Amino acid sequence: MLDKINALLQEVEQMKAANAEELEALRIKYLSKKGEIAALMNDFRNVAADQKREVGKHLNQLKETTQNRINELKASFENVQTINDDIDLTRTAYPIELGTRHPLSLVKKEICDIFGRLGFSIAEGPEIEDDWHVFSSLNFAEDHPARDMQDTFFIQHNPDVLLRTHTSSVQTRVMEKQQPPIRIICPGRVYRNEAISYRAHCFFHQVEALYVDKNVSFADLKQALLFFAKEMFSPETKIRLRPSYFPFTEPSAEMDISCNICGGKGCPFCKGTGWVEILGCGMVDPNVLENCGIDSKVYSGYALGMGIERITNLKYQVKDLRMFSENDIRFLRQFESAN
Ligand SMILES: [Zn+2]
Repeated sequence: MLDKINALLQEVEQMKAANAEELEALRIKYLSKKGEIAALMNDFRNVAADQKREVGKHLNQLKETTQNRINELKASFENVQTINDDIDLTRTAYPIELGTRHPLSLVKKEICDIFGRLGFSIAEGPEIEDDWHVFSSLNFAEDHPARDMQDTFFIQHNPDVLLRTHTSSVQTRVMEKQQPPIRIICPGRVYRNEAISYRAHCFFHQVEALYVDKNVSFADLKQALLFFAKEMFSPETKIRLRPSYFPFTEPSAEMDISCNICGGKGCPFCKGTGWVEILGCGMVDPNVLENCGIDSKVYSGYALGMGIERITNLKYQVKDLRMFSENDIRFLRQFESAN
């Protein structure tokens, strides 16, 4: 029996196949249920008990060698086949294309960098929020019309679990945990239940800045806004503030900048006015500070918030908001040089 195994082992080690069919024939000859090795396995029953150990070892070795040899031959066919496919192996490989930053990421980074130079650090918070952090803590009364104005996505019909409608919720979260001085900038995605069109989307991006300390005044806010506008657009940019209303700031204002397309002369983009609105701001309402455990008699603060899409439109004149989320490579490639 051992002689037979050794003879087969030699055969197997030298076996060759010119093509896949020949290889299959070899496989059937040695490894199939009626093959040579299966026959030896059958004979194994008749081997004397004191030789079983020795013979079994050789038999297993034979089986393993055969399987390996067949795999080896099979692999060599597969390689031969790819080479036969007329592939020029000396050709240089395809270059790996570098990804580019999304225009919104570029602008977000630029805004954060500018405020970073003013000493603001980045703060982030959850997108799934509760009523307290999005509305109640920010001075939205229970029946405040702003709650309707901001069509909110509620989760599972639970009025206390919702997708944040603004990044102001991050300000609350920071103020609850930290006493002034607070100087943060909060970039992030927000959600509102709006019909999707070229000028509205159900999700978009905001950046908010918050500064709370002793003796923070509206003059500080104005100076920060002017610095931001000049850094973001051009040194010639002018700003103007118009009185406005937000539940969480008092007084509140909206800021316009001189149109960076026509330089303030008037063009279709600024509807001939020479000014474009870019952000909302104001002094933090004392109620909001108190809601977050900050003494409003000692501290005051300012807050400002803007839509990143809006700023990106101004910088790059993107006319359709939907372009930002459609991942059209022809659109995204245009921002390669801005990286
Ligand atoms: Zn203009």
